Amino acid sequence: MNPERGRPAGYSAAVATDTATDTATEPLVSIERVHAAREVAGELGVDLLVVTPGSDLRYLCGYNAHAMERLTALAVPRRGEPFLVVPKLEAPMVDAGPAGALGLDVLAWEETDDPFTLLAGAAIGRLGSAPARVAVGARSWAEHALGVQAALPGARLELASSVVDRLRMVKSAAEVEELALAGAAIDRVHARMADWLRVGRTEAEVGADIAAAIRAEGHVGVDFTIVGSGPNGASPHHELSGRTVRAGDLVVVDIGGETATGYRSDCTRTYVVGGSADAEVAEWYGVLQEAQRAATAAVRPGVTAEAVDAAARTVIDDAGWGEHFIHRTGHGIGLDTHEAPYIVAGNDLPLVPGMAFSVEPGIYLAGRCGARIEDIVVCTEDGVRILNDGPRELVELPG
Ligand code: ZN
Ligand code: ZN
Repeated sequence: MNPERGRPAGYSAAVATDTATDTATEPLVSIERVHAAREVAGELGVDLLVVTPGSDLRYLCGYNAHAMERLTALAVPRRGEPFLVVPKLEAPMVDAGPAGALGLDVLAWEETDDPFTLLAGAAIGRLGSAPARVAVGARSWAEHALGVQAALPGARLELASSVVDRLRMVKSAAEVEELALAGAAIDRVHARMADWLRVGRTEAEVGADIAAAIRAEGHVGVDFTIVGSGPNGASPHHELSGRTVRAGDLVVVDIGGETATGYRSDCTRTYVVGGSADAEVAEWYGVLQEAQRAATAAVRPGVTAEAVDAAARTVIDDAGWGEHFIHRTGHGIGLDTHEAPYIVAGNDLPLVPGMAFSVEPGIYLAGRCGARIEDIVVCTEDGVRILNDGPRELVELPG
């Protein structure tokens, strides 16, 4: 495993200044997040929260742990001190990292110990009795969730999303700035698209150049490179193929990556290469642009997630293209590319300042072509902040 994983860049200084309050020095992670999780768990009647490696763990305590069969878990009982269960061989690394800086109790287990028994015993000790409701991270591995269940046979397991998503959905000012940096970095990649997206090149060749640029422009990892040329653009999650870009093709380019602090970028622009759009394409692309603008303009506190979806969908429906808009309008973004809140019909969650999500309507004509426009936006006190820039009209590249 990578020993650096316990000490992600950007965390140590922030953790060290946990009393700062202004935006410039506000810490990305502080012990307050664990305490907030404990408070929400208590409010919801959850006795014990168990979070294993992944974004929930990184969010709550700054530990970007390597997921593997050995159990690493943050346990947050509704009463008493939270604690981390870690393999003993990793304990020094954990102590030296962000989680150690938060002052969390670290319970280390030896190779022949049962870490689930250790976790259960420590939780019961803090609670004073066996927990009845135990919430495990939604993206925890099944072997870890079932291990917790076996060690606490009287407990009913449920997803920790009700607790953790409630916190993660609302970004702090420091988190919004991380998302803004990620957005600016991916915008710089789109701005260079003419260098790579040309007639005669394959989607795979273009995608390889984009991936290199995603790293060069300030990401530590590439999450996805969708280059959907011509008919492939009608498949929203098409990634790359050997298809060669032809003159006049519409090309959907949806790209994103992970920055050093774990925050994600995700931005789609649609290009027309070596030609210009015909009248019909120009007409429905105009509708799509208006839909994206309408949904973005709808974002403000108190408006529901589904109302933002409806704002985009109504424009496309009214213009007669509704059957070709085949997905929700957006998804939350933070330490995961897809997280709550989901901008979809049926989600009556009211937006609050700090919620960050994509606004990405698309129109897809099976067998022919497609288009999507995607920005990351943040709900502010009085409206919306858009974290991506660059032209949203069909961008004509010379070919
Ligand atoms: Zn996207
Ligand atoms: Zn997206």
